[in-house]
Amino acid sequence: MAIQSKLPHVGTTIFTVMSKLAQECGAINLSQGFPDFPIDEELIALVEEAMRAGHNQYAPMPGLPVLRETIAAKVQGLYGFGYDPETEITVTAGGTQAIFTAVGAVVHPGDEVIIVDPAYDSYAPTVELFGGKPVHVRLGSNMKFDADAVAAAITPRTRLLMINTPHNPAGTILRDADMQRIAAMLRGTNILLLSDEVYEHLVFDTEQHASVVRYPELRDRAFVVFSFGKVFHVTGWKMGYVLAPKELMTEYRKVHQFNVFSVNTPMQHALATYLKDPMNYEGVSSFYEAKRDRFLIGLHASRFEPLACEGSYFQLADYSTISDEPDTAFAKRLAREFGVASIPLSPFYKDPPPGQRIIRFCFAKEDETLDNAIEKLCAI
Ligand code: GLN
Repeated sequence: MAIQSKLPHVGTTIFTVMSKLAQECGAINLSQGFPDFPIDEELIALVEEAMRAGHNQYAPMPGLPVLRETIAAKVQGLYGFGYDPETEITVTAGGTQAIFTAVGAVVHPGDEVIIVDPAYDSYAPTVELFGGKPVHVRLGSNMKFDADAVAAAITPRTRLLMINTPHNPAGTILRDADMQRIAAMLRGTNILLLSDEVYEHLVFDTEQHASVVRYPELRDRAFVVFSFGKVFHVTGWKMGYVLAPKELMTEYRKVHQFNVFSVNTPMQHALATYLKDPMNYEGVSSFYEAKRDRFLIGLHASRFEPLACEGSYFQLADYSTISDEPDTAFAKRLAREFGVASIPLSPFYKDPPPGQRIIRFCFAKEDETLDNAIEKLCAI
C-alpha cells in the first residue's frame, strides 16, 4: 500500500534513539531529559488519595477548576498577572501537546512560523502538519537570542513566533532586554507568540525568569506553555498547562477538545493540592543549580569544553578538541565505547552549522550518577 507521508523528513526522535542506545549498551543515560531520582512521597500519596476518593472519571475539558484556580494564583504570585481560570487557563497532557494544539489552533496552510534553531524537535514538524511553513533562524553567538535575525525573518505572511526560555537544548535564557526587543518587533503586527517556558523553575545564578506573562504587550498575543513534569520531577505524568487571552484560548480549546479532550483526573487533584504550597517549587532552581555546578566542575577537568548554562537541566559541551566526527556519530560512539549517552545537537537544526561539534548532557540526575559519568568523561 502506498502511503504518502505527511512528514517525509522525520524519523524517530533523537531522545528515543539515544535512550534506547543507552539501555542497549548499558551507558549512563544523560541523553533524554528526565530525572533519575524518586519523587516526593507526598505527591504519590495525594494521587493515591484522589484515586481512592473515586476521582477516576473524565475531568472537565479545560481541567479541574480547583487546579486552574491554583495555577492562576501561582502565576499571579510569580509574574504579577492574573489569568482568568475559567477562560484563559487549560490543563494539558504536557508541554508538547500544548504546543501542538496551540499551533493547530492558529496556523493556517501557508502561514509562516518563525522557529529559532537549535529548536526543540517537535516545533517544525508540528507546524508542517498543519500546513504552515517553518522559517528557521538561528541563535547568535554563545547560543544567545539574536533579535536582529528574528526581526529580519518577519514577512507579511508571518503568523507565529515560537520562543523558548530557559532554552532546550541550549541552556541559555531570555532576559528583559530580549523581551523588550521582541515586543518592539511585534508591535503593530498581527503576529502571535508561542512561549515555551517549561523550564521556568530552572533559572540559575540569581537571574529571574523573564516570563512573557510579565509583559502585557506580549502576553496579549501569546500562548505561554508550562510543565509540571519539569518542576515536580514527573516527566512521565505528561502534565502541563497553557495560558492565553480569552480569544486565543477559545480557539485553543476547540482543538484541545478533539486532541485530548481532557487530562487525567487523579493527577490533577494531586497537583491542585501540591501546587498550593510554594515550598514545593521555590527550591527547584537552587536544587538544579547545585547539580549544574557539580557536573560543570567535573566537566572542566575533562577535555570537553562546556558552554554557558543559565537555565534548564541541560549542559552543552564542545568536543572539538577530542574528535572531528559529526555529532550524532560521536554521541553514539561516546555511549558505546565510553559508557555515557548524550544528545547530539544537529537534530535541533534545519541546517546544522557545518563543523559545529557540540553535544547535550542532562544533569537532572543523582549526584552519584553525575559523578560516575564525569569519571568516564574524564577518561577520554
Ligand atoms: N524534553 C526532553 C528532552 O529534551 C525529551 C522529551 C521527549 O523525549 N520527547 O530531553
